[in-house]
Amino acid sequence: MAGRVDLDGNPIKPITICMIGAGGFIGSHLCEKLMSETPHKVLAVDVSNDKIKHLLEPATLAWADRIEFHRINIKNDSRLEGLIKMADLTINLAAICTPADYNTRPLDTIYSNFIDALPVVKYCSENGKRLIHFSTCEIYGKTIGAFLPKDSPLRQDPAYYVLKEDTSPCIFGPIEKQRWSYACAKQLIERLIYAEGAENGLEFTIVRPFNWIGPRMDFIPGIDGPSEGVPRVLACFSNNLLRREPLKLVDGGESQRTFIYIKDAIEAVLLMIENPARANGHIFNVGNPNNEVTVRQLAEMMTKVYSKVSGESSLETPTIDISSKEFYGEGYDDSDKRIPDMTIINKQLAWNPKTSLWDLLESTLTYQHRTYAEAIKQAMSKSTAN
Ligand code: NAD
Ligand code: UDP
Repeated sequence: MAGRVDLDGNPIKPITICMIGAGGFIGSHLCEKLMSETPHKVLAVDVSNDKIKHLLEPATLAWADRIEFHRINIKNDSRLEGLIKMADLTINLAAICTPADYNTRPLDTIYSNFIDALPVVKYCSENGKRLIHFSTCEIYGKTIGAFLPKDSPLRQDPAYYVLKEDTSPCIFGPIEKQRWSYACAKQLIERLIYAEGAENGLEFTIVRPFNWIGPRMDFIPGIDGPSEGVPRVLACFSNNLLRREPLKLVDGGESQRTFIYIKDAIEAVLLMIENPARANGHIFNVGNPNNEVTVRQLAEMMTKVYSKVSGESSLETPTIDISSKEFYGEGYDDSDKRIPDMTIINKQLAWNPKTSLWDLLESTLTYQHRTYAEAIKQAMSKSTAN
């Protein structure tokens, strides 16, 4: 850790970070990185600490005096402002961010992504504290190309689909498509943070993650989350593979996504933390434009990788189609395609993702198999016995 310097060659001074949502998927990886590779201190705020328990106990861990867990619901806890005041930097990751919730719990989604984030922005602005806020690539909504005829040659032109922080429009569906409640709430909080920067001098960075995936993402229904719960696609497909069920392709699995390995993405966040002069005032796409697949291709690749890491043969029918209405209910809609433009993050932070989709699936599915296969077997044999 000694002699660490920033991108401009200046020594990095230890800071205190108030990390809200530290107990989630991204937060757990960020805490791990900060504890193992930096001298920074983390005030970890969340309603749950299951995913960071290994960093909090035992008290003999090398970083024990650099991480403190605060079980706080930011909706209604007066301790939040004190923690933000104690820190040099606040990182806000707290959110409801699983698509199955956007159309079924739109009020909770809007409150969580807009209303609950308001005091965090206010306390940072009033106390002159720096803020890194997690937004989403979903802020872009649908691509311009999605509105062209299916056979239009313009659909091949990157100008119609590559998503750029400073020029792409945000294109959401009608209000009755409640899927967009999340994107819209995230958009408004981005605009508010930007305005706090412009009018009151708030030092901010906004992160737009493009499908970050890896170990500890979401939950496996019936094992470490509710049986009827619907997590994001990585956990849905992992659950199907672990249970030897066909993977469900929503509306034919035609939507396209770019997936990035969580460990690559965390490198980008660390650069933002340690290079404030290069990161302040910017909105950054963080994704891997080289890892694009349709959801159907993702299902096929995960099936092959899982077979390799588990040693089990694949099913004769590895996938089935399902309508979005049946899978998610009324009001679901989808982003057609998400390719991040990387110009701004390249220029400001000289960062590039490294891990291929095959490699990131191999390490992630090895983790899923090791963590869940036995528990699933036991749960399934119990339910057969009953
Ligand atoms: P996550 O659900 O794993 O983590 C969110 C954490 O916030 C959870 O631990 C949750 O308990 C906590 N939280 C929620 N409401 C809270 C409250 N009121 N008080 C205290 N804690 C609360 O999600 P994640 O994948 O780690 O995402 C983190 C952030 O990144 C979110 O803002 C999300 O919108 C954004 N994001 C992530 C991705 C991705 O690819 N993972 C993509 C787009 C955007
Ligand atoms: N999806 C799917 N089957 C599943 C879960 C998700 O086909 O079991 C699709 C979903 O409709 C979307 C894509 O996979 O097109 C990615 O979904 P995810 O929940 O990861 O979030 P998103 O990228 O839409 O924010």
